[in-house]
Amino acid sequence: MYDPKSLKAEEFISHEEILDTLDYAERNKSNTELIDQIIAKARLAKGLTHREASVLLACDIPEKIQEIYDLAEQIKKDFYGSRIVMFAPLYLSNYCVNGCTYCPYHLKNKHIARKKLTLDEVEKEVIALQDMGHKRLAIEAGEDPVNNPIEYILDCIKTIYSIKHKNGAIRRVNINIAATTVENYRKLKEAEIGTYILFQETYHKESYEKLHPTGPKHNYAYHTEAMDRAMEGGIDDVGLGVLFGLELYQYEFAGLLMHAEHLEAVHGVGPHTISVPRIKRADDIDPNAFDNGIDDEIFAKLCALIRISVPYTGMIVSTRESQKVREKVIRLGVSQISGGSRTSVGGYQEEIRPTDTEQFDVSDQRSLDEVVHWLMDMGYIPSFCTACYREGRTGDRFMSLCKSGQIQNCCQPNALMTLKEYLMDYASEDTTKIGEALIAAELNHIPKEKVRLICKDHLEKIEQGIRDFR
Ligand code: SAM
Repeated sequence: MYDPKSLKAEEFISHEEILDTLDYAERNKSNTELIDQIIAKARLAKGLTHREASVLLACDIPEKIQEIYDLAEQIKKDFYGSRIVMFAPLYLSNYCVNGCTYCPYHLKNKHIARKKLTLDEVEKEVIALQDMGHKRLAIEAGEDPVNNPIEYILDCIKTIYSIKHKNGAIRRVNINIAATTVENYRKLKEAEIGTYILFQETYHKESYEKLHPTGPKHNYAYHTEAMDRAMEGGIDDVGLGVLFGLELYQYEFAGLLMHAEHLEAVHGVGPHTISVPRIKRADDIDPNAFDNGIDDEIFAKLCALIRISVPYTGMIVSTRESQKVREKVIRLGVSQISGGSRTSVGGYQEEIRPTDTEQFDVSDQRSLDEVVHWLMDMGYIPSFCTACYREGRTGDRFMSLCKSGQIQNCCQPNALMTLKEYLMDYASEDTTKIGEALIAAELNHIPKEKVRLICKDHLEKIEQGIRDFR
C-alpha cells in the first residue's frame, strides 16, 4: 500500500503502486472528461498527484497536449517570471569505486586517467569559473571513501568559498555527491552548502540493482532514502532527478513524483529542484545499450508535466542538452541551466575542451557569454542570484515566499542586480548592450514602487563599483 509518510524506500515508492498507476493512466489516456478535470486542477497551480500527472503523460490527444504546454508556460511565467538561474558544474574527482554501467567513471574503466584536484587546483578552477562570471557552482565527484572522503569534499567547499578574486566570490555551492550518512550531511550543512543533489538514476529497483552491480551504490534502499537522511542532517534544500534512458520514462516519472510527495508528507517541504538528465555517449559506454532512450518530444512533455505537477520546484537542465532542446524546455518550465560547462576534472583550466576525461559528451558547448546573450535575445533574464539561500530562505521558507507570489518583488530585483554585475564585470560589449536595455525594461516589472526605487538605486551603485548587495 502506498504511504507517502513511510520512510522505507520500497514502501514509499512501491513497485506495485507504480505499476497500478501506469495501468490506471493507460486505461484513462483517452478519458477526456478526466483529463479535463486534471488540467483544471493543474490550473490552480497547487500541483498534481503522481496518478493524475501520469494520466496526462499517457494522453496523446494533440489538443490536450497543447493545453498542457500552454499551462506549463503560464505557470512558469507566474512563478518564475522570465528569470533563468545560471550555474556551472565543477568536477573535483573522477575516482570512483562503483560499477554504474552507464557512467565512464565506473571502477573497471581503465581508459580514463583518474584525477583528483588538489586544493591549489580547486582554486585555479574556481578562478577560471569566476573569470567567466559564475557565482553558483554544483560540485561533482565520484564515490571513493579513500580518495574522496567527506573531509576532502569539505576542504574543497571551504576553499571555494574562501577565494575572493577580482569582483567577488562564489556565493553558493551545491553538492552532487553519492548518498552518505546523516552525520556527513550534517557536516555538509555546517559547510553551508546550497542544495544537496542526488539523482535516483532509476526508481525501478530490479533495474537499479543491475545497473549498479557493484560498489556501495548497489544498495537501492540506502540510495533512495538519502534525501531523508539529508533532511535529518539539517539540509532542507534537496534536488531530485532520474537519468532518463535507463528505464521506461513513464515508470520514472511516477517514481519521481512519488518521491516528491514523500518528502512533502514526511518533511513538510518538497524537493527544491528536479533535474532531468538524459543518458549521453561517454567513454566506455554505449548509450544504445540502454534501450529506453526518449526523443525530444517526450522530453519536452516530461518537462511541461513536471512544471504543472510541482509548480514551486525549480527545474534544471544541463549542457547534456543542445541549444535547440534547451530553448524549447526553458519555455515549458525549466528555471536553471548551466553554461560554459566542462565535465572533466580540471577542465576549466584547459584552453581547449578536454574530451578524453569528460563524464559525458556536452551538447551545448557555447561560452557563458554566448548563453547569456542567447537567453536575453529570447527575452529571459539570466540571473546570478544566490540571495535566498544566503538570507536563510531555504526549505519551507523559500516555498512560502514562492507560494505567496512575492517572488516578483524579491527575485526580480535580485536577478537584475546580479545581471548588472555580470554585465559590468564579465560580459562582451554586444552582450552588455542587450543586457542594459533589458534591465531598463524589466525594472518596470517590479510591482512594488518602493522595491523598484531601491533596485534602481542599487543598480546605480553597481555602476559606480559597489558589489554584492544583501
Ligand atoms: N557520484 C555521485 C553519485 O553517485 O550520485 C554523483 C556524481 S555523478 C558525477 C552525476 C550524475 O551524472 C550521475 O548521478 C548520473 O546520473 C550522471 N551520469 C552518469 N553517466 C552519465 C552519462 N553517460 N550520460 C549522462 N549522465 C550521466
